[in-house]
Amino acid sequence: MPVEKVQNYVNGKWSTSSSEEVLDIFNPANGEVFSRVNLSTAEEVDNAVRAADKAFGRWKRVPATDRIQYLFKLKYLLEDHFDSIAETITFENGKTFQESKGELRRAIENVEVACGIPLMAQGGFSEDIAPGIDEFVIRQPVGVCVIIAPFNFPGMIPFWFLPYAIATGNSVIVKPSERTPVTMHKIFELIDQLNLPQGVLNMLQGGPDTVNAMLDHPLVRAVSFVGSTGVAKHIYARAAKNGKRVQAQGGAKNPIIVMPDADMKTSTRIIGDSAFGCAGQRCLAASLAITVGEARRTFTEAISDLANDRVVGFGMDQNVQMGPVITTQSKNRIEGLVRQAITEGAQTIIDGRNPRIEGYEHGYFIRPTILDNLNPNGEIAQTEIFGPVLGLMHVNTIEDAIALVNSNKYGNMACLFTSNGSSARKFRNEVEAGNIGINIGVAAPMAFFPFSGWKDSFFGTLHGQSNHAVEFYTQTKVVVERWPKEWSRKF
Ligand code: NAD
Repeated sequence: MPVEKVQNYVNGKWSTSSSEEVLDIFNPANGEVFSRVNLSTAEEVDNAVRAADKAFGRWKRVPATDRIQYLFKLKYLLEDHFDSIAETITFENGKTFQESKGELRRAIENVEVACGIPLMAQGGFSEDIAPGIDEFVIRQPVGVCVIIAPFNFPGMIPFWFLPYAIATGNSVIVKPSERTPVTMHKIFELIDQLNLPQGVLNMLQGGPDTVNAMLDHPLVRAVSFVGSTGVAKHIYARAAKNGKRVQAQGGAKNPIIVMPDADMKTSTRIIGDSAFGCAGQRCLAASLAITVGEARRTFTEAISDLANDRVVGFGMDQNVQMGPVITTQSKNRIEGLVRQAITEGAQTIIDGRNPRIEGYEHGYFIRPTILDNLNPNGEIAQTEIFGPVLGLMHVNTIEDAIALVNSNKYGNMACLFTSNGSSARKFRNEVEAGNIGINIGVAAPMAFFPFSGWKDSFFGTLHGQSNHAVEFYTQTKVVVERWPKEWSRKF
């Protein structure tokens, strides 16, 4: 079902923002407008935060075992509408239907894990820390929490936070990306059917001004952000200055090392999926491949064949393996960065710029692109391209490869492909990144692990998902109690 205009959902009611700032939402495969979004004003932010704060006062008193019943119901609603939501993701984001389904599966998995909150959010108890005195810790919710999401996983990323935040007793406002707001609108149509108390779960559409109004609002207590590093730094600084707890996941430039002893066929297939999956618009996408010794020849040949064979097109069409990038601006930016890499000394082995995709001539397509001899001292070696572009670098030892990985300012993911256990152990121990793959391209971590990220890929202490999310959305209260025997009535 198409959504002609996405709306806000505040205090259990749908509304259209009165803002005159309106953006078109495009299907990136054909450039056609299929929805529109208004960017909410500071006044609308204030109304939503006040509604959420009012709801918080009651919701925090609801037992966790009752709160999670809404999540059980949400899981089954998401399962019932699985294909239609996945289709919406493909329409507004461009990724293939299979990729959209994978994303939604991880969202649901987070709902499932958060159903364990009654156990995960337990405190601790020490009896008799002194004669007749007990001390214990309890976890309490923090208040109104906001979730600010990027365009590349419109169905999954809000779920790294949302289920944990409400299950622990907080109220929430989700702010989807203004480039992909339709998916969350559709998910909120399901949330509307949960009969949650009004104001517990809200959604505001908007852009940077909407976000800044949230960061400055005194009743917002916690901010969860995922997006590019420049914006992550801004969010982290502004939210912290205003006394809020904040977790801000940023961008990446992910390296993989290919050793000469790797199983080249399997490794190439996995690395190809990692580099070109979701058209390279994943914060865990491989974007640098560092070959060691003889892997230079074997891997370069194998990955070039794979890139050439990739079927590119509209993500709902059968056999399509890679969709377009998100906007025409993004396509121009990526193609510009490829030009810059060439100026810095790289050579194109496969040049996917400006392809003609039959039937989709107005789509924002770039075919897989491979740049050889990327200059390690150039700007592109440190720049997130966020498109289907893999840069190759070549060294002679694993030590040199690890040094190259660690010279990167980002630290979201790093992978090693090898058949040697001692190389694997060395890599795992020495590499400076928060998500590590050995003979695997890192997918988003399962919901029962935190989404780790280091260096310029993460600002904060506690990440999204799992026990990290539980800690982030609760504040600890330590209680020490004395109950002398003589104060208790004797029967
Ligand atoms: P973005 O930073 O442009 O936008 C993210 C969110 O921030 C959006 O909701 C947007 O409205 C808001 N925003 C944008 N500019 C703002 C500003 N100046 N002030 C306040 N708010 C602002 O990111 P994007 O292009 O939507 O997403 C792609 C980026 O996200 C990539 O850099 C990617 O690596 C990163 N990402 C990181 C992770 C991770 O887990 N580390 C996961 C997914 C995506």
